[in-house]
Amino acid sequence: MQALKQTDPEIYELIRQEERYELETIRLIPSENYVSQAVLEASGSILTNKYSEGYPTKRYYEGQRYIDQLESLVIERAKKLFGAEHANVQPYSGSPANLAVYFALLKPGDKIMGMGLPHGGHLSHGWNVTMSGQFWKSVQYPVDRETKRIDYDAVRDAARRERPQLLIAGASAYPRQIDFRIFGEIAKEVGALMMADIAHIAGLIVAGAHPDPVPYADVVTTTVHKTLRGPRGAMILCRKEFADRIDRAVFPGLQGGPHNHTTAAIGVALKEAATPAFREYGHQIVRNARAMAQELMRRGFDLVSGGTDNHLILIDLTNKNVPGKKAAKALEKAAIVCNYNTVPYDPRKPFNPSGIRLGTPAVTSRGMGEEQMRQIAAWIEQVIARADDDAALARIAEEVRAMCRAFPAPGILLGAD
Ligand SMILES: *Cc1c(COP(=O)(O)O)cnc(C)c1O
Repeated sequence: MQALKQTDPEIYELIRQEERYELETIRLIPSENYVSQAVLEASGSILTNKYSEGYPTKRYYEGQRYIDQLESLVIERAKKLFGAEHANVQPYSGSPANLAVYFALLKPGDKIMGMGLPHGGHLSHGWNVTMSGQFWKSVQYPVDRETKRIDYDAVRDAARRERPQLLIAGASAYPRQIDFRIFGEIAKEVGALMMADIAHIAGLIVAGAHPDPVPYADVVTTTVHKTLRGPRGAMILCRKEFADRIDRAVFPGLQGGPHNHTTAAIGVALKEAATPAFREYGHQIVRNARAMAQELMRRGFDLVSGGTDNHLILIDLTNKNVPGKKAAKALEKAAIVCNYNTVPYDPRKPFNPSGIRLGTPAVTSRGMGEEQMRQIAAWIEQVIARADDDAALARIAEEVRAMCRAFPAPGILLGAD
């Protein structure tokens, strides 16, 4: 980054510091990952220079000879990898992708039904402060009070009662597999369309480590920057019959020109995701989450739903008498980065909830395995027990950094300009 260093030493220095931080901490935020050097190169390429409103061969700007080939190639890779009839690779990110789907398939005031945010759903699934909750009527289903899992019979009852036009399956803080087949059946029964939002689990699905919604959903949205390990961006996959409506909703409905550098980097990520190594990666994410969950439970932690079968763990810290925010901040001092999170039926406020959310996609990208997960669980226990002891947290941080040094992070080459 010699030119950057010359032109803008402040920005250069901040990037270098963030790079070191990402390398020397254990990143347990389940929506984060480390992209490959190849994805970074495509993402930082001159494709950022080009405007391409429209779709391949139907553009509003000239000079698209290479861009058209590029976007067509990435669309074909997306369709093939997910077995989808149609793919739109232009959404700027996950939330705009969902908005585009609502715009494509619904009229203002139609009813959508998704999982409530406090129960693990995403903001963009109809939460009241978002456009999705204000331009459409939103009803939300909870998880079961006892099991903390989706109660499919309760979802069916609610759908029969509410008659939504769109039923949404997908979550951001749900540690269990989602049965997309049942969601598809419920949608069909009540005459709703079904959208699966696989932002968190796309990489697991591609790897065969989580059931696949494509056979059951009318539309599938996903970010590409979480377990799929691509650049920040998103895709919409759908049945052919919805292709025109989806495409028109993305452009010109919601967006202007696509980010071609991102499109290219998505293409690279899709190519990487089609390899046997990625398949292994997806399964290792789940094995790692399970190992960490088991060790945490052995150490007396209360895991929402009693464990995990995906990449994600939600800890209810009530029995440890340390609120989620305090725990997350203490962990950060010990070089373990996670986020505080509401747990289902949380008696505490969202800004200071009872839980923390952990995930294994990023640490698995560094090649860490079950042994390291058990070590991380042990550190988490020590941190929660000494959350006010800065000296102890600093000592743990030293141990954490020592382990990080043994596991290089993809895309980060310290000292290389
Ligand atoms: C992360 C996420 C999104 C939104 O993605 P952004 O790129 O942050 O807008 C949408 N849906 C789900 C389920 C997510 O987890």
